[in-house]
Amino acid sequence: MIYNGGCYCGEVRYQLDLSSPDEARTSVCHCKNCKKLFGSAFGITAKVPRKAFTFTSGKPKIHESDNGPGIMLHREFCETCGSGILEYGANAGDNTYIMYGTLDDPEALPPKGEFFCKSRSTWMPEIPGVFHKQEIKE
Ligand SMILES: [Zn+2]
Ligand SMILES: [Zn+2]
Repeated sequence: MIYNGGCYCGEVRYQLDLSSPDEARTSVCHCKNCKKLFGSAFGITAKVPRKAFTFTSGKPKIHESDNGPGIMLHREFCETCGSGILEYGANAGDNTYIMYGTLDDPEALPPKGEFFCKSRSTWMPEIPGVFHKQEIKE
């Protein structure tokens, strides 16, 4: 199945080629780094195999930084409008994490869980029917 996405201004576009929607794992993360990275109350990404992802137009800018003791975080975003497109950390293996809102049809890949619930904003309710972890592994 093909899923398309892109940044806010439309310069950077990508395509996701998954054998089924189950190949993606969308999750919400309430950790402090995600709040900063997304400029939001939480981060939300879809984890997909890196080989399933291809840029179809535009060239993203790459940013790498230390996301904790020596764990490098790799990010790619549109240089023109600033939309984050994807990120992956040193422990991501062969996966990449797509910024969920960049999907043209985010509803196609609904969340399966929440991470770092201990840092959830006090006003934000739990998403019903998905897994909830206090941190990453608990
Ligand atoms: Zn853009
Ligand atoms: Zn996080």
